[in-house]
Amino acid sequence: MTCSHAAGWIAGSAHAFHGLEHSVIDPATGEAVATMHLAEPADVDAAVEVARGALPGWSSATPAHRSSVLAQLARRMADSADELAEQEVAQTGKTIRMATEFDVPGSVDNADFFAGVARNLEGKASAEYSADHTSWIRREAIGVVGSITPWNYPLQMAVWKVLPALAAGCSVVLKPAELTPLTTLTLARLATEAGLPDGVLSVITGTGPQVGAAIAGHPGVDLVTFTGSTAVGRSVMAAAATNGTRVQLELGGKAPFVVFDDADVQAAIHGAVAAALINGGQDCTAATRAIVARPVCDEFVAGVAEVMAQVVVGDPRDPATDMGSLISIAHRDRVAALVEHARAEGIRVVTGGTVPSGAGAFYPPTLLAEVTPAAKVFTTEVFGPVLTVTAVDDDDTAIGLANDTPYGLAASAWTRDVYRAQRASREIRAGCVWINDHIPIISEMPHGGMGASGFGKDMSTYSLDEYLAIKHVMSDITAVARKPWHRTVFTGDGGGSDD
Ligand code: NAD
Repeated sequence: MTCSHAAGWIAGSAHAFHGLEHSVIDPATGEAVATMHLAEPADVDAAVEVARGALPGWSSATPAHRSSVLAQLARRMADSADELAEQEVAQTGKTIRMATEFDVPGSVDNADFFAGVARNLEGKASAEYSADHTSWIRREAIGVVGSITPWNYPLQMAVWKVLPALAAGCSVVLKPAELTPLTTLTLARLATEAGLPDGVLSVITGTGPQVGAAIAGHPGVDLVTFTGSTAVGRSVMAAAATNGTRVQLELGGKAPFVVFDDADVQAAIHGAVAAALINGGQDCTAATRAIVARPVCDEFVAGVAEVMAQVVVGDPRDPATDMGSLISIAHRDRVAALVEHARAEGIRVVTGGTVPSGAGAFYPPTLLAEVTPAAKVFTTEVFGPVLTVTAVDDDDTAIGLANDTPYGLAASAWTRDVYRAQRASREIRAGCVWINDHIPIISEMPHGGMGASGFGKDMSTYSLDEYLAIKHVMSDITAVARKPWHRTVFTGDGGGSDD
């Protein structure tokens, strides 16, 4: 059922904008689930002003207070798990199993984690690095954070940006993808109910080129954190550069899945299907390029095809469904076009690869074999349920192909040989390398890429480095008016005295 929805949360309450009318579409049915008027660039000015006004109070709140608000937020999210999961399914087409077993509990755990982190912010030990001074380090909230998030994991991507910022004492203006604003708006409401002071977290839904660009280029924003595609991330960086604003970028990926000839092939087969199809393959860390030792390649391809054939695609609200729809018909058509291009290049479509009839942005699990490194589907981020397989003859080639991409977000290596595992973890250039698994994430450990996948970290205490500015305080301990180092500037006594 369609309902009219405010597209913003500003100063602690729902806020209606007056821009373009916009419908949030359930991509599994094609029906509108909410209508709203989008924000416009001028609304960004107002939201940033509110965030700036809220900053002094929040950044000077005690860590214990910030922690208690985040802990309360975690409880409210857990209590609202059903509402969050249903909204996530309605706006993304992902399965209810995915939302209830991964998106929502993962987000609650993140809130719990950052509630603890908020009480563990400390500078380095103070010391007399010069005989005449004591130095100490303060780590202070960087200020107002402008955040821009994608549509694939709307709640988790918002949480990954918002929680470390709040733990660090920053205020936030967040723009969700306009396709999927609902859970982000609910998150902001829950944060207010949890006791977050008004204005510390604002949500402002608008289009990327208008509202996203206005946030990225806003002089009142001290840090821009962005998750999305590499092309847009670079334009965000360029907009931020006009003010010299710091950026954190979590961008695209093209994760290799390297299977050595001593691997447990059954484990690799099941791991590949899960890692390629998670969230309909719309996951920046999804396994996309299986690079498989030739002696086990036929067994791998046959096994993956067999398991993919058992995957139930359909109604995302049915708990028996394994894979729901993709985010939109336009995106599904882009995925289908990349597979058609591969077919035209002579690549073997082992399973899937055909757009089903009927409503909804559905696309089947698709396996492409004998894919050459020059093929477009090997180099381009597909962001759909498509796995390519390339056979290799030795470890050097496998690792070389794994790194044959400008991206560097995630990778996995499958082997029973500890030395091969160590080599892969050392030599594959990616922000995360899994050994004999692919996908699991954990709040305590960082997520973030290298190269075209961006820089900076989400999750874990490493993420705080983005949100805290380091200040050195150097305090004279001599109480002497005329200090020895003054000689480098002037030697006369200048009327001063040494004591
Ligand atoms: P996208 O880059 O199209 O959009 C991301 C966000 O940027 C949206 O909110 C969008 O409205 C906004 N935007 C668009 N144009 C803008 C502009 N000119 N200025 C400012 N903001 C603008 O990405 P998407 O299609 O929503 O998401 C898919 C992409 O996100 C994939 O490339 C995926 O790999 C990436 N992603 C990366 C991670 C990670 O952690 N590295 C996580 C999830 C998704």
